[in-house]
Amino acid sequence: MPNPTEIVLCGLDGVLALIDHRLHFLRNDEGIRDWDAFYAACDDDMPNLPLIQRLNLAREEGYPVLLITGRNAAVRGPTEAWLARWNIGHDGLWMRPADSRISTARFKIEIVERHLAGRKIRRVYESAHQLDFARWITQQSIACTLFGPNQGNGAAREILDLRNIRHACGHITLYPFYGDDDHAWDDRCAQLAQNSCLLCQADALDAERRQRHAQARAAAHERGLPPLAGSDRQIAWAEGIRLSAFGAIDKVQQWVDRHAEAAQAEDPDHWQTVTQGIARATAWLEEQTDARWWIDHRQGIANHLDAGRTLLSAVAEQEGYF
Ligand SMILES: [Zn+2]
Repeated sequence: MPNPTEIVLCGLDGVLALIDHRLHFLRNDEGIRDWDAFYAACDDDMPNLPLIQRLNLAREEGYPVLLITGRNAAVRGPTEAWLARWNIGHDGLWMRPADSRISTARFKIEIVERHLAGRKIRRVYESAHQLDFARWITQQSIACTLFGPNQGNGAAREILDLRNIRHACGHITLYPFYGDDDHAWDDRCAQLAQNSCLLCQADALDAERRQRHAQARAAAHERGLPPLAGSDRQIAWAEGIRLSAFGAIDKVQQWVDRHAEAAQAEDPDHWQTVTQGIARATAWLEEQTDARWWIDHRQGIANHLDAGRTLLSAVAEQEGYF
């Protein structure tokens, strides 16, 4: 007999429910994120039939299946109707409260920590769209099966299969394939297998970002720039912007050095105003340690002479140095 406290957790969007047909409400060229329309269209989702089979099998073996989703609880009615229509047996359904402001990952972690403490989690099925939760689950030494994005064209919805892909990193991800272009499935599988899994890809990007940040921090330190203040994320972002700005300021300084002699001879008063303005604006920027300020002013900041001039004159004007 299975341990009665042992449970299976399963996500909904991108896991049990295949959501490709409505992702355009969130990802489109216009950059519009229409969450209401995205959730409203959930009734048309195709069910992940092979996964439903697995879950039903788990329940037959005595493992309760609990569904946990970041989907807005405002659509609980249609969601329950959809689950019933596709005969998706389950022993609980947690949906993110309509007024919740926390991320889906945080919401799911809190459910596990607060409501499932003491239960042994046998396996978690999660979408590759929810890597933060999948990573956390893996860190708790719980088995996590990741579902990659749907493959195929979706034109013929009755043709559906689940393919196991062992990625180059050694991790296995399941990909729902559907559509009538099944002759291309093997090619697509081979392609997917050549890459790392999405979790490893995200980790690699993260490591790259951290390394870039460390390099930027070291460069800033070497330059004598004070540490930035803000959240880790803001600091990492702002450090790169600030370095670009000071790269441009160096170019302005080189320009000043090149033209000093001629400009001094032509109009010493004007030249003194210019160089003083540059020096004071540079000093002002050196003291600007608010990461938010750099992020808010990132537009136009680039590591070249013109951008450096524009930035320094903007600061000089704002501070009344000219
Ligand atoms: Zn991997």
